[in-house]
Amino acid sequence: MYNPKSLKAEEFIDHSEILETLDYAQKNKHNAELIDEILEKARKRKGLSHREAAVLLDCDIEEKNQEIYKLAEQIKKDFYGNRIVLFAPLYLSNYCVNGCVYCPYHQKNKHIARKKLTQEEIRREVIALQDMGHKRLAIESGEDPVNNPIEYILESIKTIYSIKHKNGAIRRVNVNIAATTVENYRKLKEAGIGTYILFQETYHKESYEKLHPTGPKHNYAYHTEAMDRAMEGGIDDVGLGVLFGLEMYRYEFAGLLMHAEHLEAVHGVGPHTISVPRIRHADDIDPSAFDNGIDDDTFAKIVACIRISVPYTGMIVSTRESQACRERVLHLGISQISGGSRTSVGGYVEPEQDDERSEQFDVIDSRTLDEVVNWLMRMGYIPSFCTACYREGRTGDRFMSLCKSGQIQNCCHPNALMTLKEYLMDYASEDTKKVGLELINKEIDNVLSDKVKSILRANLLNIEKGERDFRF
Ligand code: SF4
Ligand code: SF4
Repeated sequence: MYNPKSLKAEEFIDHSEILETLDYAQKNKHNAELIDEILEKARKRKGLSHREAAVLLDCDIEEKNQEIYKLAEQIKKDFYGNRIVLFAPLYLSNYCVNGCVYCPYHQKNKHIARKKLTQEEIRREVIALQDMGHKRLAIESGEDPVNNPIEYILESIKTIYSIKHKNGAIRRVNVNIAATTVENYRKLKEAGIGTYILFQETYHKESYEKLHPTGPKHNYAYHTEAMDRAMEGGIDDVGLGVLFGLEMYRYEFAGLLMHAEHLEAVHGVGPHTISVPRIRHADDIDPSAFDNGIDDDTFAKIVACIRISVPYTGMIVSTRESQACRERVLHLGISQISGGSRTSVGGYVEPEQDDERSEQFDVIDSRTLDEVVNWLMRMGYIPSFCTACYREGRTGDRFMSLCKSGQIQNCCHPNALMTLKEYLMDYASEDTKKVGLELINKEIDNVLSDKVKSILRANLLNIEKGERDFRF
């Protein structure tokens, strides 16, 4: 029944294959010889199958676990260096016809304020985001064909790209909206979106149906096959994710990797990103009602094992996680984080009033973007506002082949330095600027190609003179 090439959800996420995988992993969790073999394969940086990865996740030999963490760190360094890409979510509307039991936007929640931004309000939100220094957004919206039809989303994307306030610009809009039709995905592609993101929430069909009792999202197959339709519609960068805490994490982990294998098998390109959200407190939602929550150690192990299993896939962690937890997982494989986020509709312009709350979850890391940038640099990371690839047409398999050849490093590193310099010139506090300029000076020496180095130096000077938007 299990067939990664099938287009049917229940065949590429085959329940019995997951159960057998979990059983295999349990039986082999002390099998040092097999674990060594898997680690040896992982060192070749070609990734692992879901079965192999599941064994590493279950492995309880302390010494081998240390090797797993070390390898994850090394792979992170080799593929992503010390760069961390920054983005912010922008909530457009929290009208939703679905009944997801873990989300405060579920239709039956009558005490949350329902809001939908007008184009003028979007303009104000985007200006606020540009004034913070953001260049990359992920737009979010509930599913509601009447209030949030595709035309509304498309118009909003157009508005966002059109706003040029001072030196600000949103250069990449990623989209996180409900599963839709091939035709609508085509329209999103034409609107110039970056990544299409859709979290599976849980791969366990029975739980999925219970957690989504009403609304179109109840349809497990339609939701799970969404990425295939997105790719058919021409979107070649897609972002996967599960909401850890809903189902058993081992099940989700295997399902997630099977989904990635399926995309690779059918479309020749795996997911562009994987997000690892954990369930959080929100209006009407008590995370303790879900008894599959995972602790920070397990969370770190999941991040490390994903890093090893799909080295070419970016990994995202949001402000759902605390500063301490983000610090811990950054070096294990995370390549993108959000910063200065507001998870309410209209929250960048007007902070939420207690009697009119509309946020999707409580933000744990509530620092400003400047504080996040400063913190990253003090830990030795280069905060990057780069959006170059998709604007240069490096998406899908073109992006993956550059990644696999290692060439992408020649773009990511100088792009990170140039976009950081823009940020420092336009938005940073004095202290952040000082730390950042020192970091850039130091990092120029790490650019290997002399040609790239000299273009980079010239561009950095031009940024000082007021020019913007250079990229490799
Ligand atoms: S998770 Fe998404 S689809 Fe479900 S209620 Fe929340 S906004 Fe609606
Ligand atoms: S060059 Fe491409 S892969 Fe590298 S940070 Fe920029 S957009 Fe991402």
